[in-house]
Formats: sequence, structure tokens, C-alpha cells
Amino acid sequence: MRELEGGAAGFAFASGMAAITAVLQLFRAGDRVLISSNVYGGTYRVLDKVFQRFGLDCGIVDTSDLDALEAAITGDVRAILIESPANPLMTVTDIAAVAALAKRKGILTIVDNTFMTPYLQRPLALGADIVIHSATKYLGGHSDLVAGLAVVKDAALAGRLAFLQNATGGVLGPFDAFLLIRGIKTLAVRMDRHVENAEQIAAWLAGNEAVARVHYPGLKDDPGYAVNRRQAKNGGAMIAFALKDDYDYRTFFKSLKLISLAESLGGVESLACHPATMTHASIPRELRLKVGISDNLIRLSPGIEAAEDLINDLDQAIKASKEA
Ligand SMILES: *Cc1c(COP(=O)(O)O)cnc(C)c1O
Repeated sequence: MRELEGGAAGFAFASGMAAITAVLQLFRAGDRVLISSNVYGGTYRVLDKVFQRFGLDCGIVDTSDLDALEAAITGDVRAILIESPANPLMTVTDIAAVAALAKRKGILTIVDNTFMTPYLQRPLALGADIVIHSATKYLGGHSDLVAGLAVVKDAALAGRLAFLQNATGGVLGPFDAFLLIRGIKTLAVRMDRHVENAEQIAAWLAGNEAVARVHYPGLKDDPGYAVNRRQAKNGGAMIAFALKDDYDYRTFFKSLKLISLAESLGGVESLACHPATMTHASIPRELRLKVGISDNLIRLSPGIEAAEDLINDLDQAIKASKEA
């Protein structure tokens, strides 16, 4: 992973959250970490419910607005943690621009690269200091392991993280390490197929009259398209979309045959999830609606099955969900 992400050292953890927790332990009471408003829910939760109790503060910023970000970087801020594209609307953040601003302010840039993997996007080359992964997703790739990774660009900072990992013990077990290495060996071919499927599905959804909107940074009219193209190989493989009002999303989920309803992502089998009641259920409805996570939003993690089979499954489920 050190080689793939291009850092000074890489560390394997028992889960993505263990990696994130160890990285956050680089900071101390009185420090403040900024996170972008759409980071993984567990990242917000560990800061808000755990680190806060130890005096590490967290602030939420809209990282698509660099002026707002700059204004939020007060004297106690030590780092900014971002994801791109971010869940569930696949919002793109300009990693190089955020990292340049952070560097100017003397703070660290941490990028959770779970959705893209180093095959599609390499944040350290864009100026970030630390990359974290939930290897449970694409890196493992087969929905049969839980693991996390951190890669650090600077050797001195890597030494501090090595100490923390040893001191706190969230290491990856040997069998999971074996499974993860096996997964990474096929990362490139799997990602090529995941992306190919996502591109075909996104284009098909965009042209489907039952679909109200599609969020996929690989589509030319997506608001994140241009920035994503600069910093990543392609749009990745995660898609979100909403059906029009006369379609019932509950019936849609119930009617899927090949695609499974589940929260995870990045495995060889296609998964669909309902952010409003699953991944983003802890966000109050008012706030969810304000940021575009409508009740009928559907998130899709296309696997490596035949695109035609996936599109046929989506098509029959959409048709079944049309209200009379
Ligand atoms: C799943 C996920 C995590 C947490 O990883 P675990 O391995 O489940 O602990 C962190 N960040 C992102 C973006 C994720 O999707």
C-alpha cells in the first residue's frame, strides 16, 4: 500500500475505523480537526462521541467552498479530513486545492480514499499528507474481510503513527492480511470492470424517464465532472440516483433479484442501499433533505457481473415500482 499510494510508510489496521482512530490520535486535547460535511458517518461519530470527550474538537465544513474552508481554519485547527467522491451524492472535492490551502495554513490534509482506491486516485501525489482506507470495501473486494489502511507521506509523521499503532493495538490479524493481499492482487481488473459497469449503468439511468436525477462524477453533466477528471482516472464505481415521485422506492428495493440490499460497497457482488434509512439514518430528516438525501435516493455499488444483467435487474425493479 505504501508503494501503491506513494508514501513513506503504510500501516494495516483491524478496520477502517481503527485506521481513522489511530490517525486521529496524532492530535491532542485542545486541537481541532475539520471534516467535510459529507464524510463517512463513522468518522463524524468517533470525533463527536469519542474524541470530543478527550478534548479533541471537530468542525464541519463545506469543502467545495474554499473561502469558507479558509475562514474555518482558526489557530487550533490541526488537520482537515476529506473524501472525494463523498457519500451518498458522490460530491467531488478538489483535493489539490484543499491540500494547497492546508499547507499554506500549516495543517495536515487527510484523505479517506476508500471509494477510489490508489488505482483510480492517489491523494499523496495531489498534496495530501495521510491517506486512509476502509480495505473492507474495494481493496478486499469480496465482502469477506474487515480491514483498514493508512499511508503517510512524511517519514517523521509515519514514525509517530507507527508508535500509536503499536501502543494502541488496532492491528490487522494475519488471516485477514492474507485475504487482503489476495484481494489487492486483482484490484486493477476488478476496478476496471466495476467502473465499466458503473459507466454503463449511470448512462442508462440518465436516459431513463423514470429517473429524476443521477449522481455520478463520470457523467459529463455532473457538477463534479471537471475536478474529478483532473484528479482521478475516471468517475469511480459508486452511483446514486432518485426515482421520480410516481415510483415507490420500497417496491423498487423489494423487486431487485440480482442486486442485494446491503450497506457495504466495493465487493464483486452488486449492492444497493437506501441512505435515508440505512447509511444516513442518524442524520435528522430535515437536514438530510436540505443536503439532497431525499427519501427516494438509492445508492448503488455495481459489482463485476455482466452490465446487461444488472441493467435488466434495475429495469424490471423500476417498472415494478411504478405506482398505478
Ligand atoms: C466503510 C467505510 C469506513 C469504515 O470502514 P470499516 O472497515 O467498516 O471500519 C470509512 N470510510 C469510508 C469512506 C467507508 O466507506
